Amino acid sequence: MTDDEVVDLLTLMASFDRRTVGDADVDAWLMAVGDLPFADAKVAVVKHYRESREWLMPADVRRAVRAIREERIKVRPLPAPTPDEAVDPRVYKQRMADIIHRVGNGKMPFRAITAGGGAEPSTEYQEARSQEDRDRVLAQTVPCPVDWCPALAGEPCRPSPTQEPLTTWHPSRLQVARGEEPRPINKQSTAGEAS
Ligand SMILES: [Zn+2]
Repeated sequence: MTDDEVVDLLTLMASFDRRTVGDADVDAWLMAVGDLPFADAKVAVVKHYRESREWLMPADVRRAVRAIREERIKVRPLPAPTPDEAVDPRVYKQRMADIIHRVGNGKMPFRAITAGGGAEPSTEYQEARSQEDRDRVLAQTVPCPVDWCPALAGEPCRPSPTQEPLTTWHPSRLQVARGEEPRPINKQSTAGEAS
């Protein structure tokens, strides 16, 4: 994050804990957390003060940001090696390392929602969105069990084989991906309920 973003981060903290934000604080925090993505650090601050009365330190921010990254990586299935990569596993390993890095930064498979220069979405919105994204990614780790839906693993659900992909998913697909017993297909009404 930039100097200005560190100031914003400290201002956010100060609105919870009334800390003072001087140049020395900005310098110190820049050294301690300046390598972290600003958006994740902000989520970490809000999450901390939502759950705790403890004074927030750089180590807390780093730990929370690491957890955010690990969660993103955990829910994102990694692609299989291409035929070339199967011949040379080092190439595959390198590509996976790149993907894991980008997934950790929230760049894949969905573009960071703060991209584009619009108004900054609220933290609640960001958290709801990231939960939705996690569910979508998880659902897509398995083929869709719905008869008329042609989606294979890694593909979005469709209302029928000839129609455009849905931005949501068939609920029973998420259940299968979670290892739950899917509800009978004939009782299923609308696509896209997240549970
Ligand atoms: Zn489906």
